[in-house]
Amino acid sequence: MSGRMITKTCPICSQQFQTDWPKKQFCSAECYRNKLKNQFRERFESQVSPPDSNGCHIWTGATLPRGYGQIHLAYPVRRTSTTHRVAWELYRGPIPEGLWVLHNCPNGDNPGCVNPEHLWLGTHADNMRDMLNKGRSNYGERHYHSKLTKSDAEAIKSSADSPQFLADLFGVTPGHIRLIQRGKRRSRE
Ligand SMILES: [Zn+2]
Ligand SMILES: [Zn+2]
Repeated sequence: MSGRMITKTCPICSQQFQTDWPKKQFCSAECYRNKLKNQFRERFESQVSPPDSNGCHIWTGATLPRGYGQIHLAYPVRRTSTTHRVAWELYRGPIPEGLWVLHNCPNGDNPGCVNPEHLWLGTHADNMRDMLNKGRSNYGERHYHSKLTKSDAEAIKSSADSPQFLADLFGVTPGHIRLIQRGKRRSRE
């Protein structure tokens, strides 16, 4: 701490701060994080189309087979995510544990849409119900010969919906739903 203190202006929050390190640019770790976030947002937005006639902003970068955009993130942890989830985190905030980011685009869902106004947070059951309402589910098939997956079972356990509703949704009996909720079984009887 021998250097002379100098006064600098933080480019993020515009506040003045004192430092003895001439190369220091930001007043705090938080402002540095915000700088990284701004940079990331610019990179993200450079790969999004202007709004189409429905107001959808479509991801123009890499996509997954079902049309969801895909992006690699380096911060705060290295991971690959879908662009609608990242859009939610950028413009709305953190996604609570166990919730899904779902689309509700006017005139039909657009998996590549990243307009935060067209996104909402729901449970796995909400997602299933949404797909049913929009006629995009393989629910009928599920009804006859599929087993519940582990994530189905987790969704059932954490759901506040009634056993009857969940039974209809997943194509099993209400008794089966109650058994799953009590942790007794996972697969279809
Ligand atoms: Zn600052
Ligand atoms: Zn949209």
